[in-house]
Amino acid sequence: MPSVTQRLSAHREPTTVRMVVQCPAHASTLREGPALSDGSGAGWLVFLCRVHAEDLPEWAGVATHTDRASTPCGSVMDFRPVEQVLRSHANLWLTSLTGVCADAGDGVWTDVLAEAERVLRARLTRAGAEDSPLQSIAMMIGLARRSAELGDLGQVASSLGYCEMLTLGLEPWREDGRTPRARADSDAVGPRILGFFTHD
Ligand SMILES: [Zn+2]
Repeated sequence: MPSVTQRLSAHREPTTVRMVVQCPAHASTLREGPALSDGSGAGWLVFLCRVHAEDLPEWAGVATHTDRASTPCGSVMDFRPVEQVLRSHANLWLTSLTGVCADAGDGVWTDVLAEAERVLRARLTRAGAEDSPLQSIAMMIGLARRSAELGDLGQVASSLGYCEMLTLGLEPWREDGRTPRARADSDAVGPRILGFFTHD
């Protein structure tokens, strides 16, 4: 008998996998996103532990299932078209971190990512923060930009997925030039996941 994950993914390969919660627990709940317009199945599957699933019971999602596959809490199988995945990254963290909107440059990802990289590098230079976690994020955004230049949006999604995971350890950026430091707890997680469910 196929597992609930196999059934819900309808044996499709996800466009990308993501991590939207920093949590050491295994998931006990699987939230199923709205169906894709092409009828192929759910747009995303999010795996959450009991605490995170109960934290925000009003989260969107068309159905909830029990998960017993030892999947880490916060894992996402994202089946949406790659352009939609990239916009989701912009809405969730890239724009708030860099101030660069996805519609800058008419949505040309090379331009968006080049500008985001430029903003981060300038900020790091100003702050003189060689050991900042933003260094890794700037480097991965540079990698994403090069993949965009080659037209490989799947690889762009992978690099941005890694950046997204790194941003989970940051405090929200403040416009006073202070470099974010690693966060000691995970209490900013709720808004992040809520954003995942409410943005396209
Ligand atoms: Zn959790």
